[in-house]
Amino acid sequence: LAQLYGPLNQLGRIYRSINQSLVDTEKLLALLSEPTEVNDKENAADLVVHSGEIEFDDVHFSYDDGRTTAINGVSFKVPKGSSVALVGESGSGKSTILRLLYRFYDLGEGQGRILIDGQDIRDITQKSLRKAIGVVPQDSVLFNSSIQYNIGYGKFGSTPEEIEAAAKSAQMHERIMGFPDGYNTKVGERGVRLSGGEKQRVSIARTLLKNPPILLLDEATSALDTSTEKDIQKALQNLVQGRSSLSIAHRLSTIASADIILVLKDGQIYEQGSFRELVELNGLFASMWANQVSSSEGPAPSIAEASIK
Ligand code: ATP
Repeated sequence: LAQLYGPLNQLGRIYRSINQSLVDTEKLLALLSEPTEVNDKENAADLVVHSGEIEFDDVHFSYDDGRTTAINGVSFKVPKGSSVALVGESGSGKSTILRLLYRFYDLGEGQGRILIDGQDIRDITQKSLRKAIGVVPQDSVLFNSSIQYNIGYGKFGSTPEEIEAAAKSAQMHERIMGFPDGYNTKVGERGVRLSGGEKQRVSIARTLLKNPPILLLDEATSALDTSTEKDIQKALQNLVQGRSSLSIAHRLSTIASADIILVLKDGQIYEQGSFRELVELNGLFASMWANQVSSSEGPAPSIAEASIK
């Protein structure tokens, strides 16, 4: 989701919108050069989340004023508390869907609507929208500060007990206890270096503290060893529990356990259903799946181990 942090216009807005996700100076500076795309309406209300249901209603979107189409008539719902996985080849529109929901771009007239609990996201404040959404990006950025600070950043004024509970839930507590100064250990470039999987668990702990009703997840494509994979899977399970989530999914565990899988192709939903339904359909998803299994090194990921819906 690094690209989610796209076109924001002013520093103040960037601070508010990136909020609990990630900040580093280089990224902030890169963001500042992006053009303005989205402004709140004068009478914009705050989003009121009842159940966290998300709806894309015939959404069309182009990055270049209609010359090429990124999203071409996409409609789907993420029912309250359910998980939707986006799969599809590169350029099929997965990231664009997340960016639109996070409102880095507004849909124009005739480009459809995106609703959260019936409220068109163009009519609400960006601040309230982003407060309701937790983002776990592919590459989580850590501050050069203590692990406690890095997790506690998810919620202003969080107590050490809350931070520890979040770290436990994110399967990071034991690793932290192995650091020389426990939760006070400095991490980041000038401290203990964490692996990609560990950084992601810090990001999950941060998001657990933020406690948003809606989640956007961009899974890392890189292969993880089995025990890291299991830890992340457990951490993600704890995070998505009871929240509406939209994931760019690469992992078997996520794809297999999603309530709904949307298979994207050329900006359209080409197939949708549960893992089982899509395998039985024997179409695009089934062939993507067969390719993934045959090209993966070592033993094929065990479908039996995942809780397939
Ligand atoms: P990947 O798996 O490679 O991240 P994706 O499925 O997320 O791909 P998108 O990034 O949503 O795909 O891209 C959808 C289409 O929009 C592609 O044709 C892409 O080239 C185009 N696109 C994406 N971002 C931009 C941008 N910032 N400016 C112009 N075109 C873009």
